[in-house]
Amino acid sequence: MSESVSDAELVERFPWVQITHDSKFHFRGWLDKQLLINRCADCGNWHHPPKPVCPVCWSENLVPTEVDGTGTIHLAMALHQGAPAPGVDYAKGPHPVVAVDLDGADGVRFSSTVIGLPPEEVVIGLPVELDWVERYGHPFPVFRKREA
Ligand SMILES: [Zn+2]
Repeated sequence: MSESVSDAELVERFPWVQITHDSKFHFRGWLDKQLLINRCADCGNWHHPPKPVCPVCWSENLVPTEVDGTGTIHLAMALHQGAPAPGVDYAKGPHPVVAVDLDGADGVRFSSTVIGLPPEEVVIGLPVELDWVERYGHPFPVFRKREA
């Protein structure tokens, strides 16, 4: 389905992110609820956000690769104010923002929010898994607590 979306349409669908030639595959993946992370086919290094060349070996042989989205919270913050976004209501309490170490993609930390938990339970070391919510009518990747 996302294959048929032009670059211009992609930019229209995600007005709050900066989409470049290097990152458009990543946001196109969101439309199919796939979290695609660049992996270097030459040295195996993963990196995010997307870059035009591998930051380790400078290869241009990069392959957008779907990750299953499980991981561990590396960094957790509670925002008390910020830019308006659908589903974010600072009046109801702080909005959690996390950086998650993704399983199977060494060195990649993906930043988003956590749903379904009170802010005080969003802590470093918590196992989480990917989920999707709607933002501006399109899928947006978030995390929720992963039950052991
Ligand atoms: Zn490489």
